[in-house]
Amino acid sequence: MKVLAILYKGYEAAKQEPRLLGTVENELGLRQFLESQGHTLIVSDDKEGPDSVFQKEIVDAEVLITTPFHPGYLTRDLIEKAKNLKICITAGVGSDHVDLNAANEHGITVAEVSGSNVVSVAEHVVMSILLLVRNFVPAHEMIERGDWQVSDIARLAFDLEGKVVGTLGAGRIGYRVLQRLVPFDCKELLYFDYAALPEAAAKSVNARRVESLEEFVSQCDVVTVNCPLHEGTRGLVNADLLKHFKKGAWLVNTARGAICDKDAVKAAVESGHLSGYAGDVWNVQPAPKDHPWRTMKNPLGGGNGMVPHYSGTTLDAQARYATGAKEILENYLTGKPQTPANLIVAGGTYATKAYGQR
Ligand code: NAD
Repeated sequence: MKVLAILYKGYEAAKQEPRLLGTVENELGLRQFLESQGHTLIVSDDKEGPDSVFQKEIVDAEVLITTPFHPGYLTRDLIEKAKNLKICITAGVGSDHVDLNAANEHGITVAEVSGSNVVSVAEHVVMSILLLVRNFVPAHEMIERGDWQVSDIARLAFDLEGKVVGTLGAGRIGYRVLQRLVPFDCKELLYFDYAALPEAAAKSVNARRVESLEEFVSQCDVVTVNCPLHEGTRGLVNADLLKHFKKGAWLVNTARGAICDKDAVKAAVESGHLSGYAGDVWNVQPAPKDHPWRTMKNPLGGGNGMVPHYSGTTLDAQARYATGAKEILENYLTGKPQTPANLIVAGGTYATKAYGQR
């Protein structure tokens, strides 16, 4: 059996830090496990274009493993060429890099390690909300420059206490963000999701559901995006929706870059309609050097909390998703049923309700 893994390169860091399991060098700890059973493992970060390792090797691979941090984009076209492909394993959470409808049509299973990095991301979301609301990044940049002008920072620095914070998507990550915000004494915690939170869960964080997206964003000082990328969420936060945001609101997106319209977000930050935007996900990864989200600033020179895609790939998270990916692989090899919560598509249909209302 041929297993193809598309991972990011770790270079020196991966040699020095073996816990960087999600790298090309450390191979999710899978090589010995697979080769001792006579299987072939091909690992690469080379994924773009018809001559890439990914596009050449996928043709006869039976298993594809990839991470959302450096995804091998499995398009319909590639699925049609991948005649042996049976299962795609996401080492992490979020399987939008696979054309899920095409996978369904071809009977390919898509499984991810559900829950493996949801705390890692929720912590990053809370950090990003705080660094935007408190105007942290330009304050730190000022210090590095050797300057000291408190008023230039304080003019756009606020407390999170007393603000309205809402999550677009209240699944594993969205709910954990709400839980972590409780001690901040926000004015209100809101959520927008077609799936209502169980009553006890909503009550324990005192979260109110808003059923119209426009009304939801118009009530929030801070919006955090925590839903998967699918047909119903691609470009959901666009120029039209941004008009409904409160002037000066903050937006945090650690879900998927393509949920927010790249140019509309840039325009909203640069005009000051949004005071800031932060996150770690980009519409293409790695993001091109000239991607506007790298450098956009609000009119006062702050409001950018963008980082590379790493919130869900802390060393703690890597240990969990490497173990989980191996378990999915073991189940596949031994014919054991997969843990239901890990299945995204299976048997020609969606096994989760999180990828859109169907
Ligand atoms: P989850 O399946 O537990 O929850 C997703 C929630 O989004 C569900 O409640 C679903 O009903 C809701 N949803 C779907 N479509 C919606 C829509 N149109 N409007 C409102 N709500 C909608 O998933 P999760 O574990 O919370 O992860 C969510 C997403 O976060 C993942 O799919 C992935 O894209 C992203 N993620 C990012 C990182 C990172 O490192 N940045 C890591 C993990 C996950």
